[in-house]
Amino acid sequence: MKKIAILGSTGSIGTQTLEVARANQDIQVLGISAGRNVQKLEEQVREFHPRLVAVWEEEAAKELQVRIQDTETEVVSGMDGLLKLAAMPETEILVTAIVGMLGIRPTMEAIRAGKDIALANKETLVTAGHLIMPMAEEYGVKILPVDSEHSAIFQALNGEHKEEVHKLLITASGGPFRGRKREELEHVTLEDTLKHPNWVMGQKITVDSATLVNKGLEVMEARWLFGMDLDHIQVVVQPQSVIHSMIEFKDGGIMAQLGTPDMRLPIQYALYYPHRRYLDGERLDFAGLGQITFEEPDMETFLGLPMAIQASKEGGTMPTVFNAANELAVKKFLHREIGFLDIYEIIGQSMSRHTKSEDPNLEEILAVEEETYRWIESRW
Ligand code: NDP
Repeated sequence: MKKIAILGSTGSIGTQTLEVARANQDIQVLGISAGRNVQKLEEQVREFHPRLVAVWEEEAAKELQVRIQDTETEVVSGMDGLLKLAAMPETEILVTAIVGMLGIRPTMEAIRAGKDIALANKETLVTAGHLIMPMAEEYGVKILPVDSEHSAIFQALNGEHKEEVHKLLITASGGPFRGRKREELEHVTLEDTLKHPNWVMGQKITVDSATLVNKGLEVMEARWLFGMDLDHIQVVVQPQSVIHSMIEFKDGGIMAQLGTPDMRLPIQYALYYPHRRYLDGERLDFAGLGQITFEEPDMETFLGLPMAIQASKEGGTMPTVFNAANELAVKKFLHREIGFLDIYEIIGQSMSRHTKSEDPNLEEILAVEEETYRWIESRW
């Protein structure tokens, strides 16, 4: 039996993880969690019978408690609840499918408790990669990437020697506004932004894909996951989202991982690594596909990528500022309080005013996050 717990079980990655569990009788879901979606949590409790469910919001936790009082599932709430879920004694793997920096503390708690991490929550490595990766090594746990690009690299690396890698080639769809120029982005709507050409994902990551912040976060994440410096990570636009990423080795040979855009594959790969299981789903039809094309990313229009690279180069607390500013800006965009281009403005100004500190610990990272939010709230 594979015993797992999921942080963010009601979201896009969370529900697809449960689909994988549903299709594989040897996965036991011992813990689930969400922010406030009580309805979906109740359905998941009744189907998967977890021992523990963690709900962020106190009131929602109370409501769930009443709804599932006929079951044996325990309900906990708040950060203490997430930490309890992360360290459940019986689980082997924690799937981190929560959005945002909130994922850092539970991920650390799980590592301390010796759990392998199936990592979807990219904000964790982006802001605290310098703490998480050495911790994982110290506690002997695996960080198994779920993000399709990192999973592709992880799959292509299987059986290879890391020191023989010359370059990581991270592919990008280019998002819904690929080909447009800055002035054409001034009046794009929330609805336009949420129409991703190839993937169906949560709202935050869909906006991040349109700004190319998501690709920036992926570059930052790849740096920590695979120990590569930024000069050896290249983004290649591949609009069909068929090549999920590639590795160029020192001899010029390139290994790529291809497939239809289906997050269940990287989720399942992370859960069963290094083994593969049958996965029911569409297969890549090369004749039907016809062509796979490549472009350079437009770094002058889509500032999310160059700003992320700058933040990562500066290091210290700068990636936290980049990430926190983006999280709040996207929230405001989703609430229709700001326009699309304001997201870049908020990130850019937050980074310019910040004096970074090197090698921050968790408390400093969380303090910088709070401080960045406060500054943005006082201006926008
Ligand atoms: P969703 O928005 O679809 O889901 C987010 C999940 O987090 C929900 O279960 C939500 O619960 C839960 N959550 C939100 N706030 C809290 C909180 N305060 N405490 C506990 N749980 C909370 O996100 P995605 O699944 O799209 O993304 C999750 C992560 O995975 C992100 O970091 C994203 O970048 C990454 N990722 C996603 C991919 C995708 O295809 N979707 C691909 C690669 C990476 P509730 O429903 O109650 O709000």
